[in-house]
Amino acid sequence: MKIHEYQAKELFRACGIPTPDGAVATTLAEAQAAAQKLGLPIVIKAQVHVGGRGKAGGVKVVTDPKQVVPVAEKILALTIKDLPVRKVLVTPAANIAKEVYLSILLDRGARKVVFIGCADGGVEIEETAKTAPEKILRLECSAKELANLPKDKLLPFAGKLFSDASQANQAADIMAKMGKLFLEKDCSLVEINPLIVDDKGQVIALDAKVLLDDNALYRHPELVTLRDMDSEDADELNAKEVGLSFIRLEGSIGCMVNGAGLAMATMDTIKHFGGAPANFLDVGGSSDPKKVVAAFKYILKDPAIKVILINIFGGITRCDDIARGILASLKELTVPVPIVIRLIGTNEAEGRALLKGTDLIPAETLEQGATKAAAIGAKS
Ligand code: GDP
Ligand code: MN
Repeated sequence: MKIHEYQAKELFRACGIPTPDGAVATTLAEAQAAAQKLGLPIVIKAQVHVGGRGKAGGVKVVTDPKQVVPVAEKILALTIKDLPVRKVLVTPAANIAKEVYLSILLDRGARKVVFIGCADGGVEIEETAKTAPEKILRLECSAKELANLPKDKLLPFAGKLFSDASQANQAADIMAKMGKLFLEKDCSLVEINPLIVDDKGQVIALDAKVLLDDNALYRHPELVTLRDMDSEDADELNAKEVGLSFIRLEGSIGCMVNGAGLAMATMDTIKHFGGAPANFLDVGGSSDPKKVVAAFKYILKDPAIKVILINIFGGITRCDDIARGILASLKELTVPVPIVIRLIGTNEAEGRALLKGTDLIPAETLEQGATKAAAIGAKS
């Protein structure tokens, strides 16, 4: 789950990571009141679940009281990477002497929690990672250490980011607190970009990004309330309501599968044969045509779809029932792309017989289905 910068900063404050005060505003009057309370100069910052707000015009320093309302109005009218700005954070402007990148995240490849740091922080970090990867520093930690990271482990790393001893010391303190926060709140990322040094030599988190592990949210009822429905993928949430488990991905092959494990295996197999899945979709154990129609609709909303692979393992749900469900749903809506289907398990012969004479492309095995789908999906 993503949360907003202002919410992430509240978590920072609660665990002692220094970050500027601020107030959230959804209206111009609220923005103006916040500016008056804080005193100028301030920064007005769009609160949306994407990075690169600065470049998109969503972060503005305001020094002139007459500019508060016009700037807030402009930012509240923005849409950044398809997300409309509905809230702004009004926060005192800092004088920046240095900008550094610092994060802690789960590196699944290394099976470790790692700190990532870069002395050239700010808005160009992705660019630096590409052009000068040697500037990106890593410090691996074991999960056991996170509750109480020893300073002697953190200081050498912090020292590579900040040559000044006092600043390195402050940064090491911040790192220990990030580790604790990461562990206690079951985060998958805590990122500060930029972590700055201000004109008084104080090290401060000027931006805050926290990703929470959805699967651990049940342990943190206080964090669930931070979810911003406006910023979530509406289709993914609606799909949940009709009993579908749907996650959008970037590929061209729509997937419709019964069972979460099989859905993952299907995606892996598609990848193995050179294709790219456009979604994860578990239709569950039902052959209800209404559910299948809904599933087709969510898949087909994506303009990148070139083919759909249906992979069904009949167990308690019988293949002939599933086949009837698919045929009924195809009467209700037109599917403008080829459909490859693999039906296996209980009553598979009956199921396949029902699909004979339709446009559906049958596959005997998952390998065959994935190969066929990958071939169609690769065509332009
Ligand atoms: P992002 O673009 O979404 O990552 O938003 P950030 O909060 O990181 O802000 C982007 C950039 O705006 C920062 O890297 C700073 O250069 C600048 N900025 C943000 N807050 C302040 C501030 O208080 N004072 C000054 N001078 N610049 C700021
Ligand atoms: Mn940032």
